[in-house]
Amino acid sequence: MLVVIINTMLPMILSITTFFSTLIGGLFAYKNSDQLHRILGYTAGVILGVFAFGIIPEIFKAINAQNVSSTWPMLALVVGFLTFHIIEKSILIHNAQEEDYGEHHHPHVGVASALALSGHSFLDGVGIGLGFQVSNSIGIAVAIAVIAHDFSDGINTVGLMLVHKNNRSKTLTLLFIDAIAPILGVLSTLFFHFSEKALIIYLGFFAGFLLYIGASEILPEAHSKHSSYVTIAMTVLGVVFMFVVTRFI
Ligand SMILES: [Zn+2]
Repeated sequence: MLVVIINTMLPMILSITTFFSTLIGGLFAYKNSDQLHRILGYTAGVILGVFAFGIIPEIFKAINAQNVSSTWPMLALVVGFLTFHIIEKSILIHNAQEEDYGEHHHPHVGVASALALSGHSFLDGVGIGLGFQVSNSIGIAVAIAVIAHDFSDGINTVGLMLVHKNNRSKTLTLLFIDAIAPILGVLSTLFFHFSEKALIIYLGFFAGFLLYIGASEILPEAHSKHSSYVTIAMTVLGVVFMFVVTRFI
């Protein structure tokens, strides 16, 4: 009984942590310090670590146990990477076109982009919930990756809203929506269960999604103002941290 309670509580507790991670990131975004870029560098390292030492080994373990081909989860990985790449760049292209028409800084563009980001945060929560359906260790590994990068989701939400000239209360509302989205994502996974094989494919998809966020979103953002050896060192530290953590979970 106690195990059952812990098993259902743990994903919830971790998703509540993502809530604060997003919120703190968002509030941090109001002041743009050097500290911020170091944290983002560290986050990119954590995500690379979760990818390489947490999720990929788990996929291959499941492939061997289920005796299935590696083709499908690896295809799912590429689809996960490209899906988020295409969504993100489409929003950018769309925004650029709006600006071409002379509609500079329309607040609704900021709201739409921030809502798209909340949709992604909902998937973060689904990732945690389904991770726990595979095993506790993979659930915890996914949750660490989500908690770490939700900090940057918070920063991006506030950044998108402010760049499009939204006021403070609207910005904080969208930040709150983005912060609550992973909790709703975890809750949604209580209502559906995937087969073992579907979970392997989902893990591949989520790995691709994480790799994209870490390597193509957060790492460039960490170096967007200026590059420093401290930021690079923080990334290496993030990878080492996850290597050590995944030895114990
Ligand atoms: Zn996220």
